[in-house]
Amino acid sequence: MKITQPSCNDIKMINFVMSHSTISLFSRKQTILLFGAAWALLAMSVSLPPAHSLQQTKPALTDSTTLYLTFDDGIIPESEALDSLVRTEEVPVTVFWIGKFVLWNDTTRRIWQLMRNNPWIEPGNHSYSHANNRYFKYYQDPQQVVHDFQLNADSLQFTGKLARLPGRNAWRINNRKREDLEDCKAVADSLAAAGYSLFGWDIEWNYSSSTNQLEPAEDLLFRIGQVLKFHRSFMPRHIVILCHDPAMSSSFSITTLQHFIQQARTQYPYRFRFLSQYPAL
Ligand SMILES: [Zn+2]
Repeated sequence: MKITQPSCNDIKMINFVMSHSTISLFSRKQTILLFGAAWALLAMSVSLPPAHSLQQTKPALTDSTTLYLTFDDGIIPESEALDSLVRTEEVPVTVFWIGKFVLWNDTTRRIWQLMRNNPWIEPGNHSYSHANNRYFKYYQDPQQVVHDFQLNADSLQFTGKLARLPGRNAWRINNRKREDLEDCKAVADSLAAAGYSLFGWDIEWNYSSSTNQLEPAEDLLFRIGQVLKFHRSFMPRHIVILCHDPAMSSSFSITTLQHFIQQARTQYPYRFRFLSQYPAL
């Protein structure tokens, strides 16, 4: 508790009041004691914020949390909307590309060139085949998976080593490990041995399979708060968010993503970074 001391000017005022008021009925010594007590009470009330403002206090910016927006399963025609939005918002995002989709046709190749020249987009490796969506069989052959990732790196001319497994939430960052399903353990270890930094995610941004509409921004912000509160992220105060390119086909999703970025920046002490800026990489 901080109590402000009366200044020299305050003492002068007390003396002035003492000599020009009915307080002269008191002795000089009694009056100084009276004003001294009043000043102490006043100072205490000024330096203590009211109870309701204490409850509304937000975390200080020094406690800032870092968010990493990551997008899986591009490039598809809808990825172009993501390219446009991140240029407008100047927000860094890491995209995990599937070579088979990127090189699908002239449209996806054109968008690939667009996104490669976007300074707000950082590419990551999501395998060439995406396991052809047959995950159980895929994860039985670690050597084949490493080859699939290398084929993707060569086809898309990656210079970095950021990677994410298809259909599995697995982490291999330096000596730390985590995975959601046992069957990808050997594959994850093999990719780590081949030099990849393997990223899973702390939160998945849900979207409707029928309308492709993203979960509302406020709901996601609430869930981020819960992850922070209960220390559920892989790295404390660093939250990796998984999004998917197909959600960008909905105009509602575009607006929602834009709203989320603006709210995270202005209403919370959150900042956005590329995954290559993740601690200890
Ligand atoms: Zn995927």
